[in-house]
Amino acid sequence: MAFNIPDTNQKRVVIAGGGFGGLTLARKLAHRDFQVVLLDKNNYHQFQPLFYQVAMAGLEPSSIVFPLRKVFQKSKNIHVRMAHLQSVEHNSRTILTDIGPLRYDYLVLATGADTNWYGNERIRANAIPMKSVSEALFLRNLLFEDYEKAVASEGFDQRQPLLDIVIVGGGPTGVEVAGALAEMKKHIIPKDYPDINLDEIDIHLFHGEKKLLNTMSEEASAKAERFLIELGVKLHLEKLITDYDGKTATVADGSTILTDKVIWAAGVIGNRVDGLPDTVWTRANRLKVDAFNMAEGLDGIFAVGDLAFQTEEKFPNGHPQVAQVAMQQGALLAQNLKNLRDQKPMKAFRYKDLGSMATIGRHRAVVDLPFWKFQGAFAWFVWMFVHLFSILGAKNKIFVFFNWVWNYLTYDQSLRLVIKPWKR
Ligand SMILES: Cc1cc2nc3c(=O)[nH]c(=O)nc-3n(C[C@H](O)[C@H](O)[C@H](O)COP(=O)(O)OP(=O)(O)OC[C@H]3O[C@@H](n4cnc5c(N)ncnc54)[C@H](O)[C@@H]3O)c2cc1C
Repeated sequence: MAFNIPDTNQKRVVIAGGGFGGLTLARKLAHRDFQVVLLDKNNYHQFQPLFYQVAMAGLEPSSIVFPLRKVFQKSKNIHVRMAHLQSVEHNSRTILTDIGPLRYDYLVLATGADTNWYGNERIRANAIPMKSVSEALFLRNLLFEDYEKAVASEGFDQRQPLLDIVIVGGGPTGVEVAGALAEMKKHIIPKDYPDINLDEIDIHLFHGEKKLLNTMSEEASAKAERFLIELGVKLHLEKLITDYDGKTATVADGSTILTDKVIWAAGVIGNRVDGLPDTVWTRANRLKVDAFNMAEGLDGIFAVGDLAFQTEEKFPNGHPQVAQVAMQQGALLAQNLKNLRDQKPMKAFRYKDLGSMATIGRHRAVVDLPFWKFQGAFAWFVWMFVHLFSILGAKNKIFVFFNWVWNYLTYDQSLRLVIKPWKR
């Protein structure tokens, strides 16, 4: 296999990763005087903030992913390839991938981050991550398979591990999953599985820190905690899960919980790329870049988004790994690549924090804007509005909107299906 990209006299920009950062950059370079190759191991862009709704049967996977080729149907200078970046040969300005090598003038690494298992191989082998739409779908299948098994099991001892769920990590993902599971217990299980005794279902949320959502305000953390307690989630703050063998989750204090499902949302680690010197990598596999997103000491190589480690006066430990940072970096880098090619000065990146938010359940969300913090029903509508308008594609927006209205009016989610991939 080969890339089959013609050589032209345009500068070739290779973008590895079609997530928030890479896709924004490619869109800004469309119809510009560059030859752009956008490669991704998937042929689609994923909207990660709504993975948990796919896992909870609230949305179809197809509503939160978008085919990369469709974005660039009318952009002749953008070549999309489904390819897995394996390594970079900096001296020859070439990348190696599973479909062959490719020369670049500028390489932008936008491969994002993956689940951080903190070196615990047993947890990695048994817990469920939430970093791709396939993983979200896996959780949906397991969740409903376990409810089916629970109604068909003979005693409490058999049922308990099928019904109890452990979530690890009290950041936005963990909090949103816990809230959604609690709502499912309240509104769906009694209708679909009337034989299940709701008191037998325990949803545990473990968080190593003192407060939930620790990158958000005190008010947001306190309110999120109250909302989850109101919904019946068992909160375990300043407690870590140290082991999980697929049946028993072990807490740092030695106590255990029998469960078929540990959902791991406890942190991310950069998708490191081979071939670059060790000195460019820092904590959690982030690639050190300067104010122009250029990799330190590696001429022509850039990184944006979750993978990039860039400091600013206000962010001495790097930027938060959120979509806005990736998109703002991608947008500025498009301008800076043009300046670099035209031998003009580049502009230093400054992150404009537009705020952060998390939803815990119906009429329960927390929003921190730079000058205003609010929680509750209004925050929930704001959360929905912002997410709806951030999803790529008009059809996806309409489908998600329709699903949300339907779920809101009926207290129901219509996708409680166990559909497993077919294996030959
Ligand atoms: C469950 C969840 C919920 C989140 N919720 C929010 C939220 O509400 N708000 C918010 O701002 N942020 C949220 N985030 C974080 C946000 O999604 C990330 O900060 C953002 O996606 C980073 O963008 P990126 O472009 O750096 O990487 P990504 O968007 O992760 O894109 C990386 C791309 O690179 C591809 N890739 C990876 N490795 C390779 C390789 N070797 N070869 C080829 N392609 C590769 C991947 O397929 C992917 O398409 C959430 C994340 C998760 C997991």
